[in-house]
Amino acid sequence: MIETDVLVIGAGPAGSIAASMIHQAGLKVRVVERERFPRFVIGESLLPRCMEVLEDAGFLEALKAKNFQEKFGAKFLKGDAVSDFNFTEQFTKGWNWTWQVPRAEFDQTLAQEVQRMGVPLDFETTVTDIKFSDDESSVTTVQRKDGTQEQIGARFIVDASGYGRVIPRLFNLDKPSNLDPRKAVFAHVKDTRRMDFDEPNRIIVVLYAPGVWVWIIPFSSGVTSLGFVGSFGFFSQFDDDLAHQYETLINGHPYLKQRFGDAPRVFEPRKLEAWSATTDSFFGKGFVLTGNVTEFLDPIFSSGVMFATVSSHLASKLVVKKLRGEAVNWEQDYTRVIQQGVDTFRTYVMGWYDGTLEKIFFAKNPDAEIKRQICSVLAGYVWDQQNPYVREHERALKRLARLIEVQEKIQTH
Ligand code: FAD
Repeated sequence: MIETDVLVIGAGPAGSIAASMIHQAGLKVRVVERERFPRFVIGESLLPRCMEVLEDAGFLEALKAKNFQEKFGAKFLKGDAVSDFNFTEQFTKGWNWTWQVPRAEFDQTLAQEVQRMGVPLDFETTVTDIKFSDDESSVTTVQRKDGTQEQIGARFIVDASGYGRVIPRLFNLDKPSNLDPRKAVFAHVKDTRRMDFDEPNRIIVVLYAPGVWVWIIPFSSGVTSLGFVGSFGFFSQFDDDLAHQYETLINGHPYLKQRFGDAPRVFEPRKLEAWSATTDSFFGKGFVLTGNVTEFLDPIFSSGVMFATVSSHLASKLVVKKLRGEAVNWEQDYTRVIQQGVDTFRTYVMGWYDGTLEKIFFAKNPDAEIKRQICSVLAGYVWDQQNPYVREHERALKRLARLIEVQEKIQTH
């Protein structure tokens, strides 16, 4: 049996951050990853808040060398109206830029850095079973590509298996999300007309129809990720053939038609459905859940990789503390902290789909200071209690939307 201090399940951003942080603290760590890298995963637009973590984990130089597309903000389009958030104007002090990345390359860069540090990382190795002992240590069974099985003994497990949700699935910890199920249809396309339209240093979000939106995420290679998100009901009105559906959707909007109508596809359209998931608890005896396994809300504000990196960074520090024999209050120091950030974004996700944010983003006379505060949320700084749009997220957004409504009514009379 292989023995390690910490076993990390999954080599996505959450897994690589955990591996690096725990290794740097001097503990023995090992990563197992089901796929062979590079592998495709969705989640290509990062948030500035990630950068602090990527830097602390020692990944920044390797990532800079990849020349990924720099991202300075987020732009929302509704007909001819534009709402542009520039991260340099944000309220919270912190990083004001990040990247837009093809995740296959981004995740592989992180995984290679982890290996370069000397951490064993086994690809094409799938966790199939875990047995925990009373002393919190565990024995994990993994299956290799050739079908052989092996056991890994660990003092602690970090489950960073993303959509695999290994521990919640094995131990029935999954809980339904309170967000409506949605679907995405997307592809990568050659964005040959990019420069005629918009600068590539933003994610562009197009309001397509009520509750339906489009992401445009340009990469430095000239390829752009283009995806449609909406309810199952919305997509059910189209042909089942994804390629045809994608083409119809592009041609159904003037901006998209002009920019992408004849854009060659790098791969044929794919779909993803009902991704929102959560779990009863973010930790248990002998394990902690990080990244998407904790909770994934919705792609609208590109918060997935930010939560993956921030949660893993925090969890790793607590794992190290615990294995050094210090007491750890997981509920207070981990779950509540991550949950507070998740809850803030949940308000914004709900506000996006119920029209509150549409009112705010496309207000005729936006208040500059409030815009800076909301911009910080969009940059991922959802733990800054100085920011009223974090501290009182729900109340502040609702109040602002009402105020805008009243002001605009007065102005039109
Ligand atoms: P992952 O990146 O999923 O990595 C988990 C790894 O675990 C995988 O490599 C997997 O192979 C491995 N694994 C799984 N099961 C096992 C097993 N049994 N044994 C061993 N290994 C296993 N986020 C953003 O930040 N920006 C975006 O623009 C964005 N857009 C999105 C669009 C859509 C439509 C959706 C659904 C999500 C989007 N996301 C976005 C979210 C993003 O995909 C995730 O939040 C992010 O990938 C989470 O990272 P992670 O490290 O937790 O998990």
